[in-house]
Amino acid sequence: MKAFEKNIRKVEPYVPGEQPQNKVIKLNTNENPYPPSPGVRKALKELDTDRFRLYPDPSCASLTEALAKFYHVNPDQVFVGVGSDDVLSMCFLTFFNSEKPVFFPDLTYSFYKVWAELYRIPYECQKLDADFRMVKEDYYKENGGVIFPNPNAPTAIYEELDVVEDIIRANQDVIVIVDEAYIDFAGRSALELIDRYDNLIVVQTFSKARSMAGMRIGYAISNPALIKYLNDAKYSFNSYTMNQAALACGVESVKDKAYFEEGIRKIIKTREWAKEELLRLGFRYLDSSANFIFATHPAYDAKELFEALKKNGIYVRYWGSERIEQYLRITIGTREEMEALFAFLKGYMENRV
Ligand SMILES: *Cc1c(COP(=O)(O)O)cnc(C)c1O
Repeated sequence: MKAFEKNIRKVEPYVPGEQPQNKVIKLNTNENPYPPSPGVRKALKELDTDRFRLYPDPSCASLTEALAKFYHVNPDQVFVGVGSDDVLSMCFLTFFNSEKPVFFPDLTYSFYKVWAELYRIPYECQKLDADFRMVKEDYYKENGGVIFPNPNAPTAIYEELDVVEDIIRANQDVIVIVDEAYIDFAGRSALELIDRYDNLIVVQTFSKARSMAGMRIGYAISNPALIKYLNDAKYSFNSYTMNQAALACGVESVKDKAYFEEGIRKIIKTREWAKEELLRLGFRYLDSSANFIFATHPAYDAKELFEALKKNGIYVRYWGSERIEQYLRITIGTREEMEALFAFLKGYMENRV
């Protein structure tokens, strides 16, 4: 071993779902099957490329203002970043600096553990119960901060706002982050609570409901004091996180509320139909309030199904880790994509009995 090895920061990175470059039915990373608002295409076309010689606006004012208007908050309550991964990572760096462990569920977005280890933040996972529900009392113990997604991933389970509020209320000495990547497909957002709890940060993304995973836009909404701490950390790290194209496209997306709502309606409709189809095929699933379904089959091995699907050009997500080794996470695609999925599964099961 080289002497310098001992001073290298070694990390076990987050493993994203596959992004195959050939054409497949892609139900593995919770992307939206529909394109973004037509205004986004127009904004990109009209972008003044001569301006590319200039740095972008470091304060991202156009986008924070558009989001502030949409969510009825002040612009100084909004922080934007390069996808919510960037925003969440910045939150870990800024708010989780205690000797006490940060709490998050044992089955959740696996990036939380990666950031905690990267930044050397102590953490303790709280076990979801046998039905994969959060046990709110587990979060009443002393801790250095709390983060959880609602709806949770990969379970797709939405916890009602009173459960979320109980956890926030019990943790007023630390920062509580609610990661609402899938909230638009679910129910009430914790944004309702930001005026009442000064320890709350709500993080959302353009990657799912807004069909813009490729543009990398995420945001946090909180009170001005916490947003200032986030900006101070950001300006100490990289002043220009958001490029001009992302800012322009983001603004247009937020403006088109009707398109946004219609897209969500379509996915929820396909999701509810997909639940019925899964039942018909003998699957069981956790009740989904997101744009994906976490499903298991009592008679077919999840890994085998995953591999058979993949061989036939249908990608879903499989982890094989403890407690979820028999589960597949299936993103809700278009009606046609889901029909292809179910047709394949039906054929596969008929030939394998
Ligand atoms: C998809 C996802 C994110 C990150 O999305 P970005 O593309 O980085 O905005 C964050 N949290 C959860 C729970 C997610 O599923």
